Order: sequence, then structure tokens, then C-alpha cells
Amino acid sequence: MRTITAAKLWDGSSLLDNPILTIEDGHIASIATGAAAGEHHFPGATLAPAFFDVHIHGAAGHDVMEATPEALGAICRFLASRGTGSFLATTVTAPLDMTLRALDGLAKLIDHLESIENKGAAARPIGIHLEGPFLSHAKCGVQPKEHLLAPDVAIFDKLYEAAGGHARLMTLAPELPDAIELAAHATKRGVRVSLGHSDAKTAETRAAIAVGAVSATHTFNAMRALDHREPGILGTVLTTDSLFAELICDGIHSTPEIVKLWWRAKGPERAILVTDAMSAAGMPDGEYHLGGFAVQVANGKAMARGVLAGSVLTLDRALENFLRFTGAPMEQALRLLTVNPAGMTGFANKAGSLAVGQPANLIAVDAEGKLVASFVRGERIAE
Ligand SMILES: [Zn+2]
Repeated sequence: MRTITAAKLWDGSSLLDNPILTIEDGHIASIATGAAAGEHHFPGATLAPAFFDVHIHGAAGHDVMEATPEALGAICRFLASRGTGSFLATTVTAPLDMTLRALDGLAKLIDHLESIENKGAAARPIGIHLEGPFLSHAKCGVQPKEHLLAPDVAIFDKLYEAAGGHARLMTLAPELPDAIELAAHATKRGVRVSLGHSDAKTAETRAAIAVGAVSATHTFNAMRALDHREPGILGTVLTTDSLFAELICDGIHSTPEIVKLWWRAKGPERAILVTDAMSAAGMPDGEYHLGGFAVQVANGKAMARGVLAGSVLTLDRALENFLRFTGAPMEQALRLLTVNPAGMTGFANKAGSLAVGQPANLIAVDAEGKLVASFVRGERIAE
């Protein structure tokens, strides 16, 4: 048995003072309170659920679309060291056969990991986010235009089958022809629809929400800009209270003022912090790959063809940035990397909270949000 103590513990809903958390066999055996210092003692720190990233393409020199045990292993070990316990492996737009191969490989890896529930002190992909191919040409960012496709239920079904039931989120531009039909179809199959890479006007955005769209992909980035007479996708995302909304909080994709605006609009129940990280996360500057194309990374900025190409952000840094930019209280800020992404994707049973019987995936952060320690299945990963 292993004992962890700290100043506070936030379990996903409430805050405990002087917590004593015990771990047995990689699972949380008990959560109590008391003055004793445990084997792992973090004075001044808060214990919290490990982070859940719903939008991440890669890290540690690898892309999830490589879909090999080696690539995923490197990504998962690195993410665990930065406090992330689970994530949605996120594809970028690529030739259809390449995407189908990647999905097939990812599905097999996720199945395998589910079969060894208790083993491996690394983060885990628990589902797949399809970022493309049904995106806007006008707002594709670095997604290769030549491989974008018009929304098509039959093509979606192929992607869905290749992903073996693990596709959980899809970014979709609602203004494309037949996008609303596809949004309804995907929702019925359990794939959450996130609106993004889009030039949609207000009515098109509302139509997608009416058939089940639940979130917005990297709000502000690759999105029609706000206009006070035609609020469009951005104005609708910011004012529709039921809608979740992602943000890349690296200080590069949006300025601190914009982060504050997003936080005021979406609040502690609907805001979600993501990394949109690519293979260069955790690596030195240089040339890397995102899906099938080259990306240059210099001074923490990932660029391809003159456009931002994902980030090198990690969720622990996103939390620190968010706290600094907004002054939000810790127990609200933590929701954005735990409870909210878990609720949006329907994974509240697998991620985002701490409870007896669950795998001991948790972190300790100091008052500024700096990661002090990370535990995955009870194993301590990072200082
Ligand atoms: Zn992305």
C-alpha cells in the first residue's frame, strides 16, 4: 500500500483539506483526511485527477497517426510525465487510405490497452478524435486542402468502422453541404460533433447544435472572425450556454485577453483546455511531422506553410497559463482539464475524477498550477 498526502485534494467535485489517499494494486483504496504525512507528501500542493486531453496529435517526436506500439508508447510515457492520464488520439486530414490505416492501428492499440487494464505506468488513448476530413477550405489552417472531403455519411461510416467503435469526437464545419445530416448521423452513432475549422454563419452553426453538436474545436483558431451583425460560429459558440468549447492556452494561439473573454463566456462548466500538440511537444526546436506533412518548430512556435501548425503545449503548462491569464480559482481551473472534457465525450467513468476503486491516475500541483508530481496507475512518474 502507498500513501499520498497534501494540503488539499480536489476529486472532481469537492475540495478536501489534509487529504490522505491510499493506493493498492494501482487503484485508489481510500480517500480520508488527517494530519499525518504519507510516503509521498506534498505540502502546499493540491491533489487532483490526471488531465484528459481531447485534442492531441503527438509528442516526444511521434505522431499518433504512426499508430505503432513504439510511437504510442513514446507519446504516452511523455504525456504521463506532464500530468496527462488519458487522451483522444487526434488525426489530421490525410489521404483517406492513410487515415483508415491509422484508425485501424489506433483501434487495435486501444483494444490491447483495455485488455491489460492494470498495467503500464503511462498515459492512455481512450478514444479517437477525427480532425477532418470534413472541414472548410477557407478555414483549414494547415490541414492539407487536397485531402479535405465534402461531408458524406458513407465515408464517415468507413472511418467509423476502421476506428472499431473508438471514434468519440469529430471536428466538422457545419456550413458544408450535407454537414447537418452528417452531424445528426455521427451523433446517433455516439461520435460527439465539435464545430470547427469553419467559416459558418449563425444559422448554420445553430442548425448543427440543434441536431446534437456539443463542442467547438480550438475556439478562435481556424474560425470565422466575430462580426457584430453576423455573429457567425464564434459569436454562437461563445453565447450558447450548453456548448462546450476548447481553447489552446499557450499564449500563442490566443492572447491573454482573448483567453479571459472565452473564460467569461464559457465559464467553469463548459470551458475545455486542450493542447493540439504535435510531435515536437517535449522536443527541441527543429523539423517535425504532423500527420503527413512537415512542420518547422522555432521558439515554441510550430509553423507549416506560414500558418500555425498545432502546438508544443502540454496540459500542465496550459493550466499554469490559464491561472495566470484569468486569476480563476484552482478548483474551477482544474475542471477544464478533467471533468469538462470527460463529460463532453461521455468518458466520466474513465477519466476526470478521483474515487475509490478507480485507477490511481492523479497529479499534485502547487498554488500556481505548476506540476509537482504525476502518478499513473499508482506509479510516480514525475517530480
Ligand atoms: Zn488539431
